[in-house]
This record gives sequence, structure tokens and C-alpha cells, in this order.
Amino acid sequence: MSRSKMKRVVLRPPLYADFKPTGVQKNEKELLLLELDEFEAVRLADYLGMEHTEAATEMEISRSTFSRLIDKARKKISCFLIEGKHLQIEGGNIHFRGNLIRCRNCGHMFNVAFETDIERCPGCGSRNLLDLAGGFGHGNCCREHGRYGRR
Ligand SMILES: [Zn+2]
Ligand SMILES: [Zn+2]
Repeated sequence: MSRSKMKRVVLRPPLYADFKPTGVQKNEKELLLLELDEFEAVRLADYLGMEHTEAATEMEISRSTFSRLIDKARKKISCFLIEGKHLQIEGGNIHFRGNLIRCRNCGHMFNVAFETDIERCPGCGSRNLLDLAGGFGHGNCCREHGRYGRR
């Protein structure tokens, strides 16, 4: 049995989740998985330049957990860059704080709270919407987490 761990909080689902070096045959490269909490650690510390303490608070984890997370993430990303692996973002012990919806019709992208049910694109009114959190297997679980706290 895996010991239960605290869920880490990720602000929003990533827009891009699949990366490959160009000029490489499909399936030729070993798949490298970057988990969603590792992705978030890189986004906060490296992309936004946040202090580790601040970033840890943002993800609702301890500073030492954050440091381990960012080390793991950087190791994977360096491996992707140097060895040219196929990198996908998925998994991780997380919930999202908010969702991101993309309209398949007009390409409009918008942030929504999990409490809000969106049926139509505010840009063009289309119902053909892509639920990014849903693509990672999240949705109601994140809504519950937001409402009742850590579980
Ligand atoms: Zn639209
Ligand atoms: Zn969730």
C-alpha cells in the first residue's frame, strides 16, 4: 500500500502536455512523464521566479517537499532536453484550484471556477468546449477539495 500523501494544489491545468523533439519517429523515443505537481513547481519557481517558501504555500505543501519536487522536475526536464525524450505531463497527487476551458469553435480560452458550470463559450456562444481539467481526469474531485479542504 502506498502511504497517503497530502494533495498538492495546482493553479490550473497546463495548456500543453505533450512534447517531442522534431525529426524523430513516433514511439522511437522513450516516454518521460512529468507529473502535474512537478510541472507546477517549475511554473512557480522558474517561470514566475517565486521564492520556494512562497511557492510551497501556493501549492499547500511544506518547503522541503517543494524543494524535492522542483529537483525532480528539473532533473526530468534536463533529461528531456539532453536525451531528446518524448515528454508528457500527466498524473501527480494533485487537485486543480481552477479550471481552464478552450472553445473548439473559436479558440477562445477562459478560466472558470469549478463551482461554475459553463455550457457556452462567452466569445462565440458555441457549446463545443474542451474541459482541460477533465482531460487530466479532474473536475468534481477538485471542486470537493476546494470546498472541504485537504483530503
Ligand atoms: Zn468560442
Ligand atoms: Zn481533482
